[in-house]
Amino acid sequence: MTGTTFDPRQMVLPNSHFIDGRLLAGEGVIPVHAPSDGRLLCNLPEAGFDLVDYAVRLAQDVQVRSGWARAAPRERGRVLRRWADLVEENAVELARLETLCSTRPISETTAWDVPFTAEGIRFFAEYSDKLGGEVAATQSDLLGMVLAEPYGVIGAIAPWNFPLVMGSWKVVPALVAGNGVVLKPSEMTPFSIIRLAELAVEAGVPAGLFNIVQGTGPITGNALSRHSGCGKLTFTGSTRTGIEIMKAAAESGPKPVTLELGGKSPQIVFDDIRSIDAVADRILRAFTGNAGQVCVSGSRLIVQRGVHDALMEKIVVRAQNFAAGALEDAATRYSPIISERQANSIETGVQISVREGASALIPLKRLESSGGVFLSPCILSDVTSQTTAVKDELFGPVLTVQIFDEEDEALSLASHATYGLAAGVHTSDLGRAMRSVRNLKAGTVWVNRYGRSSDFVIPTGGYGGSGIGKDLGRQAVEANLRHKSVLMAFEG
Ligand code: NAD
Repeated sequence: MTGTTFDPRQMVLPNSHFIDGRLLAGEGVIPVHAPSDGRLLCNLPEAGFDLVDYAVRLAQDVQVRSGWARAAPRERGRVLRRWADLVEENAVELARLETLCSTRPISETTAWDVPFTAEGIRFFAEYSDKLGGEVAATQSDLLGMVLAEPYGVIGAIAPWNFPLVMGSWKVVPALVAGNGVVLKPSEMTPFSIIRLAELAVEAGVPAGLFNIVQGTGPITGNALSRHSGCGKLTFTGSTRTGIEIMKAAAESGPKPVTLELGGKSPQIVFDDIRSIDAVADRILRAFTGNAGQVCVSGSRLIVQRGVHDALMEKIVVRAQNFAAGALEDAATRYSPIISERQANSIETGVQISVREGASALIPLKRLESSGGVFLSPCILSDVTSQTTAVKDELFGPVLTVQIFDEEDEALSLASHATYGLAAGVHTSDLGRAMRSVRNLKAGTVWVNRYGRSSDFVIPTGGYGGSGIGKDLGRQAVEANLRHKSVLMAFEG
């Protein structure tokens, strides 16, 4: 199924907070625009300190009173599996809501975002009874135990790219581990996650355990991250904001943080690749998917001299076949840029890079559209590690190209002063692949592929300025648990 064309004007937007299992309206103060045509969708309410305080205290209370944390872990798992079923049953509506305010075409939200969200919930549900503590008989008359316990309430803050998938990766592992959650989605993409929360309550998640507060970072995000009732924070977004979140966690706790931050991920192509066509397709997808608005976007191509010309020829031809389209149209495949402001920032980054000496193999252009900003893929050569487009995360469809001769040189070009989120290695030589894997400073390394499909069991998260901790995998659930040590003597 690739999604069906629909009329966005017929849709009712859940333009509200979600607290105590119900929609909670408020005065609309933040304009929300549809990225594909720039239309004003609504004015979103903004939660100030008092409402955030209410949402956190309620989640604390429900987490204790409802017995969510005390329930048999398999019972939590059963509720979450039911939630995943409901996501699938409501897939059409969720896909449309996701498409309406995000950059995701209906073909993608139908085929990927919504099924991937449902399967992610199911994946985490399977961990519900598999992460107990440990028992250690330290001496014959003494029993040692390590109990895994929830923090209480997790404060979660999510970005605008992939609102459902990223939001659910913050919320679901926290719930599986027995916590309550208060989530602040991005003020640009506030709708689909509200529907997801309604379905959670319908599945049996106690009302008030998972609350959503809408608003901007400086007001709502700041109040949430500094709330003393949050035992831990989990954040996905830019490195700049991640640093603010960490400061807030230190000053209001200290409390632990999981930070999934920005990237500037390299893709190394050796001249022994088997199929230049296959690698050209892979490189193209890796920097044009969601118009480059992907944390792991493979935005730095590092290619061995022997294959450079043939590979670039194929990538350049492919990169010229992109067109704008309405996201609600089932035929649209390419994404708009989330906002005019973000488009300006990408354009400025490219202009500065050209002034610094970069040559545009394909220049950045605005595609003809009916309102939103669609940027055509851009490829920059003659760059160094000091060029802006190599140094900074532009978060758009921009690929930089650097040439190398020796393996060591490739690894040195791949290393980045700030980021270490992901990397790709394309080679048919196993030794080269493994040496690269060992030497790349990145939280994820893909070999002869690029990007995530349904491998939930493999965690994701960055090295260095790309973050702390992991989403997905067993590690994501463990990160929502703290450990209590118990030593019990047999004789009183
Ligand atoms: P952002 O940092 O601007 O905003 C992220 C969230 O933080 C939003 O909800 C925003 O309202 C909130 N926020 C902003 N300032 C805040 C503050 N002072 N206090 C509390 N909250 C605040 O990021 P974005 O533009 O929404 O998302 C794009 C960024 O996210 C990119 O850098 C991308 O690489 C990164 N990202 C990382 C991953 C990952 O897994 N590593 C995944 C997706 C996106």
